[in-house]
Amino acid sequence: MSIHVLPPEVASQIAAGEVVERPASAVKELVENALDAGARTVMVSLADAGRTLIEVADDGAGIPADELALAVERHATSKLVRADDLFRIATLGFRGEALASIGSVSRLTLTSRQASAPAGARLRVEGGRLGRVEPVGAPVGTVVRVEELFYNVPARLKFLKQDVTERRLIDALLTRYALAYPQVRFLLSEGGTPSLQTAGDGDRRAILASLYGVETARQMLDLSASEDGFRLVGFTSPVALTRSNRREMTIFINGRWVQDTPLTAAILQAYHTLLMVGRYPLAVLFLELPPEQVDVNVHPAKAEVRFREPEKVFSFVQRSLRKTLLAYTPVSAGTGPSLWGRSGEARPAAGPQVDAGWFLDHADPPSAPPAAPQAPLTLLPILRLVGQIGATYLVAEGPDGLYLIDQHAAHERVLFEKLMADREGKRLESQALLAPAVVHLPSASARLLDGQLPLLQHFGFDVEPFGPDSFQVRAMPALFGDADPAAALRALVEDFEEDEAPLRDELEARVAGRVCKRMAVKAGQALTPEEQRALLSDLEACASPRTCPHGRPTMIHLSVDTLERQFGRKGPR
Ligand code: ADP
Ligand code: MG
Repeated sequence: MSIHVLPPEVASQIAAGEVVERPASAVKELVENALDAGARTVMVSLADAGRTLIEVADDGAGIPADELALAVERHATSKLVRADDLFRIATLGFRGEALASIGSVSRLTLTSRQASAPAGARLRVEGGRLGRVEPVGAPVGTVVRVEELFYNVPARLKFLKQDVTERRLIDALLTRYALAYPQVRFLLSEGGTPSLQTAGDGDRRAILASLYGVETARQMLDLSASEDGFRLVGFTSPVALTRSNRREMTIFINGRWVQDTPLTAAILQAYHTLLMVGRYPLAVLFLELPPEQVDVNVHPAKAEVRFREPEKVFSFVQRSLRKTLLAYTPVSAGTGPSLWGRSGEARPAAGPQVDAGWFLDHADPPSAPPAAPQAPLTLLPILRLVGQIGATYLVAEGPDGLYLIDQHAAHERVLFEKLMADREGKRLESQALLAPAVVHLPSASARLLDGQLPLLQHFGFDVEPFGPDSFQVRAMPALFGDADPAAALRALVEDFEEDEAPLRDELEARVAGRVCKRMAVKAGQALTPEEQRALLSDLEACASPRTCPHGRPTMIHLSVDTLERQFGRKGPR
């Protein structure tokens, strides 16, 4: 084929791929335009999770009739004139690409009216081809209607996930924008049913409940710090509130949702040693920096920014969070806070010597700053088995009091650590099944599993494709003994479905966590004294014996001191 210049329609469809990847990215661009236009109200309506319809209506400044056609042209913007305007940009948009991109891959209708205009005007764009601008009656503001997104790029359609997933992305997006712009009323609805509705009264905590649910939102800590023209406000989770993935760390920088930033590492560093390995905080942070400190033009969808002084920003965020955390971290008085329905004694949290309670993990590399008072809480002392109660808990005695151990959670922890132990080095020991098992999966799950076979091998599974949507399991990790291979495989796939692209480490940990959950002894399962003893000594050998891989406690420890206080043998109460 000879070299030729692409027809403009093809070129703009290619360019559109950078900006609009899925319904949620179109929603993002349209909402940003509404905010840039000074809207007080932004209403988003969807049909079929945005595939067939996305409509964003605002009461912002509007577009003059004679500029409608320009608005949908590539590199046409009202937001900057010269390239160095980028370094004092106060709007979310500046590339002049969104409407052109969306218009080239959908049927788009743009209706707008400025306050000074007697009537509105409407322009239709189909697959990049502009219609005529027609006068219409319209309220002040702009309505952008996007129908049949990607109707002319079927390849893109194939990359969309199920409606629930696409819808979840839009929900997540709108809720976050609502949080970032609490003065603006947001309304999201599908088929006339509203799913998000904010008051626009500036109350962020009320919106936080839409994001996390009332209970979690109530627990989130307020954050507010400023220094040298930098300002950070928002919410962050107390150390007892965690998630198994890093998706719940949201950062807005100068009003932009920035999804790819080293600042997530700053957040994690603030929680360093306060959370178990594999657990992540929840945070919604709004960082304001002088515009010249930020380069916003490094990503087509503006999802990334660059800092002029990255270390300074990093350290500001890390310190502000850490300070907030240490100020709030509860101090345990020997029992978990919930055991007797009141939280231990109110000793003030003094400096960095945060008491560990049940939350801490010390499986950190030895380079972690030494925290002497925490160390003894980590490992278990040698325990003496007393027995099993309710076929669910083990009772044991240690030199420092009584231990009640949840056998399922404890076994999960034991399996998890064994499974993860060697992940850096060789593969885990694998055990061939007497008869290979054939497992049939729904085709979506089968496709997911297909991509993960090498990871499974790493864990000691020998799994091969076996006809359409079927797999043959020939070996399993020796650790699992004679567990049901079909159950194990299904458990793994569930995990892949939850997340599209977790980091490898995280994926491994989650896969392992999931498998262990399925394989661990259940509550209600009577164990022989030998099994009970084996479980105890395995648990003693764990690096983080006090929590299961999902962050729940494996045990309740009643210290001698607590027992004496509770029985009134000692101290006030
Ligand atoms: P950008 O936002 O980068 O300028 P867009 O393609 O998103 O590029 O929009 C092009 C122009 O159309 C904007 O600069 C703005 O002038 C106008 N525009 C788009 N959406 C709206 C809206 N909702 N209200 C008012 N003007 C809008
Ligand atoms: Mg824009």
